[in-house]
Amino acid sequence: MIYIFCAPSGSGKSTMVQHLLQTYPGKFELSVSCTTRPPRGQEVHGREYYFISVEEFQKRIANNEFIEYEQVYEGLYYGTLKAEIERIESAGKQVLFDVDVKGGVNLKHILGDAATSVFICPPSIEELRRRLEGRGDTSAEMIEKRLAKAEYELSFKPQFDRVVVNDDLDKAFEQLDAIIENK
Ligand code: ADP
Ligand code: 5GP
Repeated sequence: MIYIFCAPSGSGKSTMVQHLLQTYPGKFELSVSCTTRPPRGQEVHGREYYFISVEEFQKRIANNEFIEYEQVYEGLYYGTLKAEIERIESAGKQVLFDVDVKGGVNLKHILGDAATSVFICPPSIEELRRRLEGRGDTSAEMIEKRLAKAEYELSFKPQFDRVVVNDDLDKAFEQLDAIIENK
């Protein structure tokens, strides 16, 4: 089973994915996407993302290297490489995707029953703001852009197979484990 994780930025998607990687060692691997945004914090090329130029991104579109891609924020492109699925599955692991809501819905359509799509939901927009500000690695301007987009992203929730509300962290982890263990 492939798992597709989507959420408004700051809802705790990375926290959820890291929980899975630690709880089930060797079982999953996160697909590394391409992006045209600059690295933030301690991000490393090839680990969190392949950080590439817009020109390089366009070249890869032309070469048909992406299973899906989106302009997630104005001028910033993100895309999933077909080669990532092959790389992870040939290593005998299950693929995890961390993509935006449109990318998630597209991937689910493409992958069908091979994938479970999971929407991570913040308890409220106010809490989302607190978490983004608390993370301390995103500019005030980017935080406003992400919050403005969050309401729109939340409207995609009904299109997902499963929903996890990330209010109390331990309860969210429990819900996630139940999905993975097919309970
Ligand atoms: P995303 O990957 O969706 O952008 P993160 O996983 O980076 O979100 O979470 C955003 C911030 O909120 C981080 O600082 C994280 O530690 C914090 N956070 C995540 N889940 C919770 C929670 N249930 N309660 C409080 N803070 C949380
Ligand atoms: P961030 O800049 O915070 O790392 O990511 C911004 C958004 O882009 C997140 O919602 C993330 O899930 C999404 N994203 C990351 N990689 C991809 C991808 O390959 N495709 C799509 N459609 N969205 C992606």
